[in-house]
Amino acid sequence: MEKYIKAIREKICSICVDSSEEGECTLTNQEICAVENYLPKIIEIIHGSNGDNFDEIYSKLREDICEECYAKSEDGECYLREDKNCSLDRYFPLIIEVVQKVDAGKL
Ligand code: SF4
Ligand code: SF4
Repeated sequence: MEKYIKAIREKICSICVDSSEEGECTLTNQEICAVENYLPKIIEIIHGSNGDNFDEIYSKLREDICEECYAKSEDGECYLREDKNCSLDRYFPLIIEVVQKVDAGKL
């Protein structure tokens, strides 16, 4: 898991709108990053999917992670996603690439 966390910090946090110029996360203790919070599950979903089919992986992320996420409302909507404030939703294609590169030994 460490190698994935390291790669996510390098490749995602460094460009995340919620990070400082030094790549440090600026979220407060009251805010939760879905990438950080659900990383093991995200990796499991990517490993269990056809790696080239990003639409399929995205659907699975929505089904398996959003369904259990604290931010989802009863009608299935998410105010963070609506406001482009969910890091997982914002960066999922890049997250898939990062996980696949770690698996291939390229990161
Ligand atoms: S919100 Fe998540 S992805 Fe963005 S900098 Fe913080 S930990 Fe990294
Ligand atoms: S889109 Fe919303 S419900 Fe889905 S992981 Fe992000 S914050 Fe949670």
